[in-house]
Amino acid sequence: MVPPPSKKVLVVTDLDGSLLDHYDYSHSEVLPVLERLATLGIPVVANTSKTRGEWFVMRDRFSNEVAFVVENGSAVIFPDREDELLRSSREEINLVLDSLREEFYFETFQDPRLTGLVEHTGLAEVDAVLASKREFSEPLVWKDLAEQEQRFCEEIPRRGLTTLVGGLFLRVLGTTNKGKALKILRPYYGADFVIALGDSPNDVTMLDRVEVGCIILTTSNTSLLVSKAPHVFRSEGHGPSGWADDSSP
Ligand SMILES: [Mg+2]
Repeated sequence: MVPPPSKKVLVVTDLDGSLLDHYDYSHSEVLPVLERLATLGIPVVANTSKTRGEWFVMRDRFSNEVAFVVENGSAVIFPDREDELLRSSREEINLVLDSLREEFYFETFQDPRLTGLVEHTGLAEVDAVLASKREFSEPLVWKDLAEQEQRFCEEIPRRGLTTLVGGLFLRVLGTTNKGKALKILRPYYGADFVIALGDSPNDVTMLDRVEVGCIILTTSNTSLLVSKAPHVFRSEGHGPSGWADDSSP
């Protein structure tokens, strides 16, 4: 879909499984599209569950120097002004988690078990160190019974936090989401036509608040993901090839 010429366009995108391949982070297919968008002066903002450090390292490959959103809507990082923090800090989250350690058995990225972290994520060691430098969320490796995990997920909202199940970790974070960050991004860019791309349930709050939502195909989201955007596209390809798909906006 081509935006009306009078509109100021902004593209907001998830990273893993969308702009980047879910498994090896490859992304060559998207580069020509990003180049085209840069020529048109359209910013492409990453809205990711990754950390500030992870995207700082990666974004050079995309020549991307615009604002970005980290840790599922926890903070908006700007190139030219103070960060806007939407959520509680990792320290506050860990205080809550520490109070639950007697009742539940789990390990966090804070526990000194980097080898285990590398094993779990399949990331190279340096990448694992960057991933462990989270500011607003704490990923857990669950070590207790499944019914205990259920109880844990019910207990966390009573402590003013939320859980996010996805990938290899159970994440504990503040009550924020990717959609809330759009409230800050829109006026910053003066955008009145936003295109968002994502592949997971945690992208829905973002896809719901834009003019055009694009759901990137994965093996598990064929029927799961929905969006309230006025125009919704589903890519035919997976990950970056779906992102760069000609049938996508
Ligand atoms: Mg994703």
